[in-house]
Amino acid sequence: MLKPIELNLNSPAAPLQAPATTARIIPRSDHTISRSGISPNALRVLYRLREGGFQAFLVGGCVRDLLLGIEPKDFDVATDALPEEVRKLFRNCRLIGRRFRLAHVYFGRDIIEVATFRAATAPSPGQDPLPDADPDAEEDEESQIEREDAELAEPADAAVFADADTERLFDKTGRIIYDNVYGTVDEDVWRRDFTANALYYNIADFSLWDYVGGAEDIAARRLRLIGDPDTRYREDPVRMLRAARFEAKLGFDLDPATAEPLARLRGRLADVPPARLFDETLKLFLNGCGVRSLEVLRRRGLLAALLPTVDAYLESDRGASAEALLVRGLANTDRRVSDGKAVTPSFLFALLLYGPIARLIEAAPPERWHDTATILDACDRAVRDAQKHVLIPRRFSLGLREMFALQPRLEHPRGRRALRVLEHPRFRAAYDLLLLRAQAGLAPPERADWWKRLQEVAPAEREPMLDALGGEAAPRPPGARHGARRRRRPRSAGPV
Ligand code: ATP
Ligand code: MG
Repeated sequence: MLKPIELNLNSPAAPLQAPATTARIIPRSDHTISRSGISPNALRVLYRLREGGFQAFLVGGCVRDLLLGIEPKDFDVATDALPEEVRKLFRNCRLIGRRFRLAHVYFGRDIIEVATFRAATAPSPGQDPLPDADPDAEEDEESQIEREDAELAEPADAAVFADADTERLFDKTGRIIYDNVYGTVDEDVWRRDFTANALYYNIADFSLWDYVGGAEDIAARRLRLIGDPDTRYREDPVRMLRAARFEAKLGFDLDPATAEPLARLRGRLADVPPARLFDETLKLFLNGCGVRSLEVLRRRGLLAALLPTVDAYLESDRGASAEALLVRGLANTDRRVSDGKAVTPSFLFALLLYGPIARLIEAAPPERWHDTATILDACDRAVRDAQKHVLIPRRFSLGLREMFALQPRLEHPRGRRALRVLEHPRFRAAYDLLLLRAQAGLAPPERADWWKRLQEVAPAEREPMLDALGGEAAPRPPGARHGARRRRRPRSAGPV
C-alpha cells in the first residue's frame, strides 16, 4: 500500500534538543508532494490566506501521509494569521475552543482546521501539549465552551498556575489548560509530537520546511519524539498512545529513546481525562488498523494502563477465546473501515469488554447466567471499571447492554418469539456478536447458522424452522469454549 518516498536530502538533520531557528527547506523538485493529492478545500484555504498576505502551510499528519503515499484523513493548516483575521477572510468560518482557539472553515461537511502558530521555547518540563487537531466531532461549540469552563473551574485539579511571561495557565500536574499565545512557525514546530508530524508544506512555493529531521525519519520509517522523550510524555501522556497508534498505522519503528520510557511512564495515562482517552481509543481501534493497534498496545504494555480489566482478562488462562473473538472482531472492523462502511463504538466496546463481562457473569450462580438482570449487571460493572480510565458515553454503553442481553435469546430462540428478536433494533449487532462468539468457539456455530438462514428464507419457510426449535438448554459460562470436553466442570451448551 505504501509507496517508497523519494527525497533528496543533502544537508545533515537538524539537532533535536536545541531548536533550529531556520528550517531546512526542501524545494518542490526534491519531494513528492503534489497539489493533486491535496484536498481542493484545503488548497482554497491555503491560497486565500496567502492572498490575504499571510503565511500558510499544511502541517502534521497530512504532510507525513502525502510523503508516504497514503491518503490523508484530514488536512490541517497552520498560519501566522490570528483567529480573528482568519474569520475575516472566510465567510464559512467559525472560531472554536477557548483553551486553544482554532478556526474551522466549512465546506459542506468538510472542515479545514486552521491553527495560528503558537509560541513555545525548546521543549521543557511543564510545557503544554497541542490540542487534538480532531476535536470530538459530536460536541458543538456551546457544549465545548461549557465543558472547558467546567474544566477551568474543576476543583479536583483546581490549583491553577499562571505563567506571567507566557500567559499560559497550568493545572497542578503541569498540564496546560489555557494557551492562546501566538508565535511564529519556528516556535510552533517545537510543540509538535513526533518529527514525522512536524513538516510544513509551504503554499507560497510548494517547498517543505523541516526543522527537526522529519523528512529523514519518514524516509527511514522511524518515529522519534521531538525533544526529551521523558519530558514530552510527562507533559502529555496521550503521546504514548499516539506513538502506539502511529507504530501500528504506519508500521514505523519507534526510535529506542522514544520507546524506552513507555513501560516506565504508562501509569501517567491515569492523569488524562477519560473523555480524551475515549477519543484516543476510537482513533486506535476504529482507524482501520485495529488489529495492529491491539498488538502494539499489548506489546508496549499500554493496554494495561488504558483498559486494565481487558488486559488482565486477555493475559489470564481463560483469555484465549476472548482474544480470538476480539481479534476477529477487530479484523472485521478494519475491513469495514477500508470498505467505507460505518463502525460503532458500541460494538467496539462489546468486543473489548467481552472477557471482563464474561468473568462477571460467571461469578453468579450458573442458574442465573441466562438472566437479563445478571447480564445487565455484569455489563454495567464492566463498563464502570473501564470508565475509571476511558469514558464510554451512555449512548454507547446502552447499545452494548442490548447486544449482550440479546445473546441468550439468540442462542435459545423460543418458538414465535424468535421473530420478535429479528425485529429488535439491535438484532443485527447482537447477531454479529453471536457470529463472532461462534467463530471463537464461545457459542454453538449451528445456532449462528440457524439465524443466518432465518434472515434469508421467505416468511413461509420460517414456520417450520420455528416449529423445529427444541427445549431449553442449561446455561454455560460465557467465557468457556463451546463443546470443550476436557473442562473440570463439563457443561452443556448455553448462552451468555
Ligand atoms: P492522523 O490524523 O493520521 O490521526 P495526525 O498526526 O494528523 O494523525 P492529529 O491528531 O490530526 O494527528 O494532529 C495533527 C498534528 O498536530 C500532529 O501531526 C502533530 O503535529 C500535532 N499534535 C496532535 N496532537 C499532539 C500532541 N498530543 N502533542 C503534540 N503534538 C500534537
Ligand atoms: Mg490529522
